[in-house]
Amino acid sequence: MNKVFNFSAGPAMLPAEVMKQAQDEFMNWRDGGTSVMEVSHRGADFIEVAEQAEADLRSLLDVPDNYKVLFTHGGGRGQFAAVPLNLSAAGDTSLHLVSGSWSQGAVEEAQKYNQAKVIGEVTQVDGKTAFIPPAEEAFFDDAAYCHFCPNETVDGIAFDWLPESGNVPLVADMSSTILSQPLDVSRYGVIYAGAQKNIGPSGLSVVIVRDDLIGKARRETPSIFDYELLAKHDSMYNTPPTFSWYLAGLVFKWLINQGGLTAMASRNQAKAELLYSAIDSSDFYRNSIHTDNRSKMNVPFQLTDPSLDSEFLAQSKQAGLMALKGHRSVGGMRASIYNAMPIEGVQALVDFMAEFERRHG
Ligand code: PMP
Repeated sequence: MNKVFNFSAGPAMLPAEVMKQAQDEFMNWRDGGTSVMEVSHRGADFIEVAEQAEADLRSLLDVPDNYKVLFTHGGGRGQFAAVPLNLSAAGDTSLHLVSGSWSQGAVEEAQKYNQAKVIGEVTQVDGKTAFIPPAEEAFFDDAAYCHFCPNETVDGIAFDWLPESGNVPLVADMSSTILSQPLDVSRYGVIYAGAQKNIGPSGLSVVIVRDDLIGKARRETPSIFDYELLAKHDSMYNTPPTFSWYLAGLVFKWLINQGGLTAMASRNQAKAELLYSAIDSSDFYRNSIHTDNRSKMNVPFQLTDPSLDSEFLAQSKQAGLMALKGHRSVGGMRASIYNAMPIEGVQALVDFMAEFERRHG
């Protein structure tokens, strides 16, 4: 079904079956003669879609009953502000593990609102880039929350351990890793994600927040970011991003039909292994991230001879492999291989890489 394989970091490719279904019902949704994006969010039809999407997301992630699921605006960066506004007072400390550029963005935003402090560091281990867990002393009991990003989209740095924050609630930016593997939601205070990688189109963010953290927003918190108001109004305090919410619902159904997150995790593991082993087995390509911290979603890689970069990009595009250019701050290439990327796409990339090396190596 795929004409090209799209390795974009986000907005990213969506499952072909989902796009086909959305296309089929685009102008005549539920035989009502209109598009889903043209109907009221308060109508019975849309409410049903919204509730089903939430129910499916809850079942995929096994979200405990004492958590609210919010569908809201503002993307990942919106939550960089919403989290400190909802969870801290101006004099409070928030702890931030900074493992790459998005967690750096989160701490900079939090510093506008509270006494945000960086803990943990990115460093070189055995000549590779690694993220070192903060020492136990870095955590303190009266911090308002501890923020981290388990998968850094730009840098391709990930870690699978949880910060040892004791009673301090963990807040995770899962924009580029949510739904890629099973998750124990009960370990977190807040999980949030911009939709445009593993959930659906941009314009939507999903926030999963524990009940006891709701109702503490500062007076000056914009109403549309106030978790309590959003929860009280079932995420319809103002008009939600209805089309994105509908499409996210289709993606959740697709995930359930694929076998849920356990099935996704093993597919994602296989895709990442295929790509990293192609990189590691060649002197022509390299990835500079320590094996403990390699992302399974965003794989940056460099050509040992960067003067070939533009040729690599032009020829890969011609071969139907789209959006492989690395982030401008990192350079080289980056292949984002979220849930919707089939293993055939990764295989096509690996085959292209081998062929390009044969011609230029
Ligand atoms: N966090 C992470 C991990 C991201 O990858 C991104 C976007 N690429 C953001 C936050 C920012 O999201 P948005 O553009 O939706 O504000």
